[in-house]
Amino acid sequence: MDWEFLTKGSANAVYRYCGKDSRLEGKVLRVRLKGNTIRTREVYEYLSSSLFDAIRHYMLQIQLVSLDRQLIKKLEEFSPQGVQLDTGDPEALLMDNVFKGPLSEYKLVKLNKYIVFYVKDEEVLFEFKPKWLYKPPKSFSTCRNCAQAKMKNQSFVNCCLPLINGKEQTEQWFQRIIDEIQRLGLEKEIPLNSCRSGSSLLADLYNVIQALFRLQNKPGFDIHSVLKELKGASDVDNFLLLSMTLKD
Ligand SMILES: [Zn+2]
Repeated sequence: MDWEFLTKGSANAVYRYCGKDSRLEGKVLRVRLKGNTIRTREVYEYLSSSLFDAIRHYMLQIQLVSLDRQLIKKLEEFSPQGVQLDTGDPEALLMDNVFKGPLSEYKLVKLNKYIVFYVKDEEVLFEFKPKWLYKPPKSFSTCRNCAQAKMKNQSFVNCCLPLINGKEQTEQWFQRIIDEIQRLGLEKEIPLNSCRSGSSLLADLYNVIQALFRLQNKPGFDIHSVLKELKGASDVDNFLLLSMTLKD
């Protein structure tokens, strides 16, 4: 088997190529899990649309590939127990692997469920969430992401709302991460100079965060009342469907 299971989220499983074909070297395959309404082709068409032009340069290149049903079954067979792939979706996305080597070679440092560092020598990868970029309703003092982090008993809760409030607040958001690293004494695991360059990089790329915010919000669209009023699948319009899929 030339594909090794890497990880999974709630909608996709990702496999790393470990075979000898030079055309696939450094690639991953992103396959839909069973139980999703939106298929790979729709995701591909959405991500390839002009809506993403402003941030295309910062996105991983994606390629739509056809998968043989037998291959999907084989991928599932070589996955951890419980991973069920959508055998009805004949396509998958082929993308560049952001990790230069096998995941096992990286030291994983988790500040909470949403902020993770992968470190291997000089290479530092920073993974962060939210995928959910909305302002809280006026009557609420806590945002959805903070509420969820607290519900999941995360000891470090770093509110994400500053990320939609400008460059300076984005830097302050990152500073709280650096403070937490220092508080936990993890400077050896995560070099602080990498963090500082990560912080200014994120602030410089503030337009990317803004673009992602716009993809989930449009004038007159209030996600909280939309979700509250949903009664069935027919109430889900295309904007909501795709902006929710963006979070996958
Ligand atoms: Zn918050």
